Amino acid sequence: MPPEAPPGTRLLALLGDPVAHSLSPRLHGAALAALRLDGAYLPLRCDARDLEGLLIGIARAGGAGNVTVPHKERAARLVEDALPAVRRTGACNTFWLEGGRVRGDNTDVPGFADALAAWQPGRGAERVLVLGAGGAAAAVLAALLERPGVRITLVNRTAERARALVARLDAADRVALAGLDTLRGERFDLVVNATSLGLLPGERPPFRFDGSIEVRSAFDLVYARGATDWVRDALSAGVPAIDGTEMLLRQAAHAFARWWRVAPPLDVMRRALDATVPAMEGPGPIA
Ligand code: NAP
Repeated sequence: MPPEAPPGTRLLALLGDPVAHSLSPRLHGAALAALRLDGAYLPLRCDARDLEGLLIGIARAGGAGNVTVPHKERAARLVEDALPAVRRTGACNTFWLEGGRVRGDNTDVPGFADALAAWQPGRGAERVLVLGAGGAAAAVLAALLERPGVRITLVNRTAERARALVARLDAADRVALAGLDTLRGERFDLVVNATSLGLLPGERPPFRFDGSIEVRSAFDLVYARGATDWVRDALSAGVPAIDGTEMLLRQAAHAFARWWRVAPPLDVMRRALDATVPAMEGPGPIA
């Protein structure tokens, strides 16, 4: 048990809006039960005005938590000790008290890196096409840029947002900006959907697996039981593909390890997730 944890039950909160359909309470609940840790993980819907009081107050009371849409950027500015992943991406999804200060991390970064490494072990130098330039794309880029030799092409509906992300990451030498129509005939080892498109049935990110841009694998950050429509499209076209379930699991495991300073029970958490990821016809899942 970390020294900052209070005697009795420790509050772990998910701060965001909406949070009602989050899978994190079940994921962390299963891990807490398996390790017999005295904690309660609760979704707390909150607006921007209440974020500071809740985040700082919960941490100072010995609790900890996650932050989700739309507060990750604000949380990055609120934490007193922002770890490098937060400073790099400008987003914080995990907080806790350490050494008397409220510390923040962005576990989407190692979450994506771990999920990719588990799926494609030993892969290094690659050409990667990333769709999207929001918070999730920032985590994906930060993780990919840790891999020596990776070259990235970034496509986003709003070009200015993509430019700002590359500038923030100081990565203009390794990240090229493009529109999909300019990439015909190009080849990539991996395409990553980091847009929010694909949460609803029938909705797809703009990239099509029609061969006009050649890809060897596809990673969808969106997740759904039995895979998203975009992952199904990839598999039908003979392109190996995974959805965001493993990343969700891995980012939660990293958060758990920071809060409790013990190895997370990954298999227990995976089983809990497998049982709860909604099918695409259900409500949109939220990390
Ligand atoms: P965000 O900051 O709101 O960014 C959304 C992105 O999607 C932006 O690039 C946006 O483009 C693009 N987009 C939205 N609607 C579009 C449209 N109609 N046409 C083209 N582009 C569109 O969201 P986020 O936090 O990055 O999250 C993105 C996704 O990642 C969500 O589905 C989230 O659930 C998922 N995610 C998964 C995990 C996991 O563990 N698996 C972790 C984090 C996030 P503009 O810039 O042009 O608006």
